[in-house]
Amino acid sequence: MYNLIIIRYGEINLKGDNKHDFIGQLIKNIDHAIADLGDFEITTVYGRIFLHAESSVIKRLLNRIIKLPGIVSASPAVDFKLNKAASDFDDEDYDKLKEKALKLFEKEVKSYPCSFKVETNRADKSFPIKSPKLNAEIGSAILTNIESKEKPLKVDVHNPDHLFEIEITRGKIYLFINRESGPGGLPVKSSGQTLLMLSGGIDSPVAGWYALKRGLKIGAVYFHSPPYTSARAKEKVKDLARILSKYGGEIKLQIPYFTEIQQQIVKKCPEKYTITIMRRMMVRIANHLAKENSQKALITGESLGQVASQTLEGIQSTDDASELPILRPLITSDKNEIIELAKKIDSYEISIRPYEDCCTVFIPEEPVTKPILKIVRSKEAVLNIEKLIKNSLEQMEVLTIN
Ligand code: ATP
Ligand code: MG
Repeated sequence: MYNLIIIRYGEINLKGDNKHDFIGQLIKNIDHAIADLGDFEITTVYGRIFLHAESSVIKRLLNRIIKLPGIVSASPAVDFKLNKAASDFDDEDYDKLKEKALKLFEKEVKSYPCSFKVETNRADKSFPIKSPKLNAEIGSAILTNIESKEKPLKVDVHNPDHLFEIEITRGKIYLFINRESGPGGLPVKSSGQTLLMLSGGIDSPVAGWYALKRGLKIGAVYFHSPPYTSARAKEKVKDLARILSKYGGEIKLQIPYFTEIQQQIVKKCPEKYTITIMRRMMVRIANHLAKENSQKALITGESLGQVASQTLEGIQSTDDASELPILRPLITSDKNEIIELAKKIDSYEISIRPYEDCCTVFIPEEPVTKPILKIVRSKEAVLNIEKLIKNSLEQMEVLTIN
């Protein structure tokens, strides 16, 4: 029986003059995320976004949009039109409103026993019934009509299972049950464009999600080393990119050929330094791609101290090879926190598939944990860096994931 979704944003409200640009971007993102489900009217009302649709598609629409950065919460709702001034609201209208509230409760609350609470927000103060009275009377109507031996139901004003909300605005009353939480943050693209270094691991998809949440649009790069890394490892990365696209829209996934670079490093550089030098090569290629795609920073899933290359010295040596800033959203996160989030955003099950990403295949016994920049530079000087990068890019695969 729903006929719209009320969408709330949070941080966007703190924006000054350019608030409307952020809202406009959020609406574009919503529009894009649901485009294949039909043509829907989107309106902005009192600091919220209303998405109008028939009840049959509401659940599917909600599942899509609730993932979008910038959205704090959303509720499927039903509206009750007042075809008169609020001050003329009479007993007959009141009966109809109660009837609609009952119907909604009956239809949407399915598991019993449960508790509920009615809460009214009377934005239109000319509406004649004050909020506490409306709460009590609608609550009592629900109890009287629905509560039974089969459906044990009670009011709990402190910790209800269901919050039944009534919003009274000029001309319309909105009824809805519960608010589903979105990620919050800022709408994707409002903060600019970046390039995510996406491996098949647990960390980098989560880092990508954080970037999206702060309003960054992401492209992705995955360094592939066949036959050391299998086609399945690549599939895994594609699947991870697909998960991220649910939050951030279409993702351009670029897959440079990395085998030759790894082979050359292993052949020509001291074993201790292979990882450090390999990471520098990845970053150089990522810089090249980012600049080509107008992306202004790189994103990685690095977390301080997690592995040998993620010490302060390791980070310094990686940064040294990058002209663009490298953003590391997970730098202070514990692995457990990252895993929790990976589960929440649905990337975890994909990340733990067993296929190796390229680093693990070439991992040295004792990688240097505190690489000294001068030494790293001299050890990689034996490589023909320009040529290796050129070859890698010549054999690059480019995919569009959505
Ligand atoms: P992840 O779980 O994201 O793979 P990790 O803990 O395994 O991270 P590393 O293998 O040291 O750590 O990689 C650190 C970061 O470097 C990754 O989070 C990712 O951003 C990037 N990276 C590593 N391997 C690749 C790859 N094959 N392609 C693209 N980026 C990569
Ligand atoms: Mg990894």
